[in-house]
Amino acid sequence: MEIVCLDLEGVLIPEIWIGVAEKTGITELRATTRDIPDYDVLMKQRLRILDEHNIRLPVIQEVIDSLGPLDGAKDFLDWLRAHFQVVILSDTFYEFAEPLMRQLGWPTLLCHRLEIDDTRRIAHYRLRMKDHKRQAVKAFKALNFTVFAAGDSYNDTTMLGEADTGILFRAPENVVAEFPQFQLTTTYDALKDAFIAASPRF
Ligand SMILES: [Mg+2]
Repeated sequence: MEIVCLDLEGVLIPEIWIGVAEKTGITELRATTRDIPDYDVLMKQRLRILDEHNIRLPVIQEVIDSLGPLDGAKDFLDWLRAHFQVVILSDTFYEFAEPLMRQLGWPTLLCHRLEIDDTRRIAHYRLRMKDHKRQAVKAFKALNFTVFAAGDSYNDTTMLGEADTGILFRAPENVVAEFPQFQLTTTYDALKDAFIAASPRF
């Protein structure tokens, strides 16, 4: 039995924070896990910048509403869900992901939650658990699944390492150089082929 664990941002949807940086003109918000591998450091920096500019949740949700899935992502995901069990493992937050999950047909998503105060300011964030992508893969393996995983950045590499087959998708050069053990794909067709090649059912 096989299950596919997919990263979300950079694989199926654009980077949410880059969209927010572009809309607000605050270039400091462009940093992602590609630039700052420690997610706690990155999130604290993001919330500090939002506070400095007095940007609250509705502004960010407006940006996210205007982002669609990446070209071809919905078709790819539909194909994948027809052939494998699929779970999306993301370090985003349910409050951010919802409009895009609707556009993707509500796939299963395991991520984190934000704490929003009475003024709609993002007061804090709540990581469900540390290194949850890797822990999810471990748990699926304990349930006797063979796990295939794909992602694009630093926060995916422990998931890819834990999976039976780990694949990079459109990863930046620094990640590709640091993790040569993972196959690199850059198109949905190539990613499909990699999953097909990994599965004894095809
Ligand atoms: Mg990503």
